[in-house]
Amino acid sequence: MIVTDETTTQTQLYIGGEWVDPSTNNVIQPVNPSTEEPVGQVPEANEKDVDRAVEAARAAFDEPQGWASWDAGRRAEIIERFADELEKRGGEIARQVSSQNGMPISMSGPVEGGFPAVALRYYAGLIREQGIEEQRAGIFGRPTRVRHEPVGVVAAIVPWNFPQALAFVKIAPALAAGCTMVIKPSPETVLDSYTLAEAAQAAGIPAGVLNIVPAGREVGAYLVGHPGVDKVGFTGSTEAGRSIGSTCGQLLRPVTLELGGKSAAILLDDADLPSLAAEFVDATLQNNGQTCYLCTRIFAPRAKYNEFVDQITDIVSSLRVGDALDPATQVGPLVSERQRARVEKYIEVGLAEGGRITTGGKRPAHLDRGYFIEPTVFADVTNDSTIAREEIFGPVLAVIPYDTIDDAIAMANDSEFGLGGSVWGQDTERALEVARRIQTGGVGINFYSHDIGSPFGGVKASGLGREQGPEGLAAYQNLKTIYNAP
Ligand code: NAD
Repeated sequence: MIVTDETTTQTQLYIGGEWVDPSTNNVIQPVNPSTEEPVGQVPEANEKDVDRAVEAARAAFDEPQGWASWDAGRRAEIIERFADELEKRGGEIARQVSSQNGMPISMSGPVEGGFPAVALRYYAGLIREQGIEEQRAGIFGRPTRVRHEPVGVVAAIVPWNFPQALAFVKIAPALAAGCTMVIKPSPETVLDSYTLAEAAQAAGIPAGVLNIVPAGREVGAYLVGHPGVDKVGFTGSTEAGRSIGSTCGQLLRPVTLELGGKSAAILLDDADLPSLAAEFVDATLQNNGQTCYLCTRIFAPRAKYNEFVDQITDIVSSLRVGDALDPATQVGPLVSERQRARVEKYIEVGLAEGGRITTGGKRPAHLDRGYFIEPTVFADVTNDSTIAREEIFGPVLAVIPYDTIDDAIAMANDSEFGLGGSVWGQDTERALEVARRIQTGGVGINFYSHDIGSPFGGVKASGLGREQGPEGLAAYQNLKTIYNAP
């Protein structure tokens, strides 16, 4: 590894517990979206490297005295050590992530640098508490034992928007269950995966249990269909999810899919947005609008529509846009030039379909480089317009009026997606009643975020299965019953 002030060059891949030479000279060069400058270089894994990684994971899984056979307490101990090692490197990981994907450093610190250790400790505790085997009395007079066995070799495919957090909602439960893994980071965010590997090695994760193959989608597709893989955990776009789901369907291979969203925020007439500005920004715009569950369709009661539009405009226009590594930055750049062009196209379409921009809509005048776009609010949007139906994945909000609460709920549920959602109001009983009627995998009240102790995931085109909580552990376990087992 060569490190200069600005860039890191890696020349090897982490496979089978060792640093090995890649099969080709192809490289991935992530770019800092705040500066448009390269931030480093790593080898690009190809199919041969994936073969080696799957083989190493397979051997580690099948080893009779290996990781999968260890008792829960022994695995939990190493997982906790892994958490310690990651924590030591939390600041470095946060900087690596922010300089590759533009996440404001104030967010990447706790989320990318801090959350992985939280997830590892949670699942270490859970596997210790649950153990592997439970005894049941048996209905027909013979006792049974139900075993929660690891599902096998896991292929984990991760996107760039939360490269560490979304890797660890797979890694933590999979390791706790006793699985071995091949992780494929997204080409935009590869440097942090090397720090992850260093931490795993320092913690004593046995050779082959965790392998990393930085690569693009073709190699990802090859990994998904690899004969040595037993389960796929994927987070990314709905389009890629459909393709991965169909491969897994053909192979009858278990798969968890966390996909896109177009979530709704329903403002009740007593919503107090000014005093919840931080929560509102977090639920609608965090990570520069590049979070799957953001509530980018905002339903406001018609009687108070102008007042709510003004409040939202005030909150959004006060956000500080700047370099992701500046601690004062609240909105950083989009991940790439391509992504900014996509967002700008949506802004054009929003205007062409009759939307009215109340703030934003342009590239910020004070920044002469970087893939920035001002956080943008559209008023006078209808729920059937393009910017209310499609996932933009940028800082663009659409405020839509409603007449009755039944109308608001019907419009919120009228979406291809079903990931998140939120309800805003001072009467939390009333907000809870509305939350119960939203057809998604999760809803927040005056807030939206996930909680590692409870399941997270989507319905409809937002995905299949759940991550996090005990349900996220069960997703990496096969159940086996032994009958007549005293
Ligand atoms: P993407 O689907 O293009 O890529 C995600 C990852 O999958 C990358 O590692 C990519 O290389 C790989 N990949 C792409 N196509 C593949 C294929 N056919 N087979 C195997 N691997 C493949 O998504 P993206 O643009 O990088 O990420 C943004 C998307 O992720 C958004 O749609 C967002 O909503 C979604 N997302 C969902 C969640 C969630 O938990 N539901 C969380 C974050 C992001």
